[in-house]
Amino acid sequence: MDKKIVVWAALTVATLLMTGCAQQAGADAKPKARTTTPAVTPSPEHKDPEADRTAAYARWGLKPFPAPPAPPKVKPVKRQPGGPVPVISDIETNEKIVFITVDDGAEKDPEFVRLMKDLGIPMTMFLTDSAIRTDYGYFGQLAAQGHGVANHTLTHPNLRTLGPEAQRREICGQQQKLKEKYGTAPRLFRPPYGNWNEATRTAAGSCGVDAIVLWRESMQIKNMQYQRGDKKLHPGDIILAHFRGPAELKGTTMTKMTVNMLRHIQSQGFTVARLEDYV
Ligand SMILES: [Zn+2]
Repeated sequence: MDKKIVVWAALTVATLLMTGCAQQAGADAKPKARTTTPAVTPSPEHKDPEADRTAAYARWGLKPFPAPPAPPKVKPVKRQPGGPVPVISDIETNEKIVFITVDDGAEKDPEFVRLMKDLGIPMTMFLTDSAIRTDYGYFGQLAAQGHGVANHTLTHPNLRTLGPEAQRREICGQQQKLKEKYGTAPRLFRPPYGNWNEATRTAAGSCGVDAIVLWRESMQIKNMQYQRGDKKLHPGDIILAHFRGPAELKGTTMTKMTVNMLRHIQSQGFTVARLEDYV
């Protein structure tokens, strides 16, 4: 081989290696944390999780949420053995945390799975069998990310129009279905439209539900709808959103709607916690 070519090739490789190192260093944005000598020489794949997290959020035009506080040792909402099923719209807490719940399951946007993977914030999915049955696997991917699977009936009826036995079929039937598909029977139940009566409570209790979960805010396309007059998030609020796509969101995607929701949460100084840690 020509000597010149050999030298050129060696220089090119060296340049590539140096560029690679520079990019690595650029991605790791915490030089001050490195002043102590590490016990072990960091491997070339060494990663800074905080920088990675910031980059993942930036992909969606967001800043990372602060980590939520450690879950309470004793859950503030607990069904007494044999007692009525508690009905909740928020969780009693002084922490600036809210809970995200997403209902039904009509929209199955793969982009949303990527968004939730990038952000790593928890949500609880209240699923209706008639909405999810065309693609159980989609919600399986989200469940595998650690999101809660909860019950939202088999066919999404207004439960107030049904007798006790029909209500039981809707709730117990979906407990069974979700257990079959995702491994465990849900502990939380949300009645469609938030409509329930004492028969719903009795039915839910007999189906093994620990709490009926309503909400305080409802996410629209861009705006958050508040139940309280001050139009603000309060500590422990449960937020309702839906698996909805462009057809229902006037062209907006599920991911854009979610990013809008997260901005509302962030701009009010809240972070997102896991509902199942509190109920
Ligand atoms: Zn619904």
